Amino acid sequence: MNNSTTRRGFFKTTAASLMASGIAGRYQSQGKSTMEVKVQRLNLTHTWTISRNSSDFKDNVFVRLTRDGITGWGEAAPNVRYGESAQETVSKLEAARSAIESANWLHYTDLKARIDELITDESCAKAALDIAVLDWVGKKFNQPLFRIFGLDPARTPVTTFSIGIDTPDVVRQKVKEAAAFPVLKIKVGLKNDQEMLETVRSVTDKPLRVDANEGWKTKEEALEKIRWLEGLGVELIEQPLPSAMLEETRWLRERVNMPILADEAVKTTRDIPALSSAFDGINVKLMKSGGPQEALTMIKMARALGMKIMLGCMIESSVAIAAAAQISPLVDYADLDGNLLISNDPFKGSTVEKGKIVLPSGPGLGVEPVA
Ligand code: MG
Repeated sequence: MNNSTTRRGFFKTTAASLMASGIAGRYQSQGKSTMEVKVQRLNLTHTWTISRNSSDFKDNVFVRLTRDGITGWGEAAPNVRYGESAQETVSKLEAARSAIESANWLHYTDLKARIDELITDESCAKAALDIAVLDWVGKKFNQPLFRIFGLDPARTPVTTFSIGIDTPDVVRQKVKEAAAFPVLKIKVGLKNDQEMLETVRSVTDKPLRVDANEGWKTKEEALEKIRWLEGLGVELIEQPLPSAMLEETRWLRERVNMPILADEAVKTTRDIPALSSAFDGINVKLMKSGGPQEALTMIKMARALGMKIMLGCMIESSVAIAAAAQISPLVDYADLDGNLLISNDPFKGSTVEKGKIVLPSGPGLGVEPVA
């Protein structure tokens, strides 16, 4: 038997066995579809304070897609920094309803492009839909998303646990509660930076990452603060200056050894090339990118430019956190603790063992509502 006969035989057999096993037919079904949208309040265990604002709860928007008896879950975490609200997110989702309900969800790449046309801002609404569609697709194929994307679940990173800005007593308590996490992320950018870091350092010698959330207003202030942090065992600094201060951040980068990561300065792939001379890396978040598919493109672009990659989150339930966790084997740093900062997570999904993210084995996102 020569090669071409073998190949013809293979194709013939494959096509025949696909038909016999019903795979070709199974992946074409287009039953009745529904999209449900619901706002749910997530309560924070501690008042959450960063340089911009302070909150005790977040109203997130949950999406449930159903077709062929399979449910796909999605979540949007609207963020005031990007002009988003739960109400506006719901109206964007409602405006996209008929297009979503009539689309073929298996063609999730095409559908993502359609979502980008239907929803031009409110990236968290796009994220909710992309997450829900991918969860549905994974369940339809009966495979976890990390398998659909070809990723090794053993390669998940360690996640930091974030310590919001607070009084010394509460900061000490938060550090104690984070005992299981080998690396902490400390929020700064208000007037008490020194007090925050000294309090943390008085109770732990763990490696620290620091996030100023655009809180330092001049390059000179940022330079002084970063040189001080370099002496405190801090591994990296996130968004030291306002996102618009790109020139100043470039100036800063030439004068410090610590890696500087962009967060507020980067939402999607198109933002990345302009940042590569000012930042050492980027913080990718599903709520900014508009979902896992765009996050994967961002990761590829950042890698091509030699940049480091952090995968972060907003205050989110286990739905959006699991979606990020599914692509986390691709990144250098993770900050996927949004679900750990709330007291009423309506779902369970990925878990954390000694700081390392553990992916659920179930299909799709691998999340389930808490009964
Ligand atoms: Mg940040």
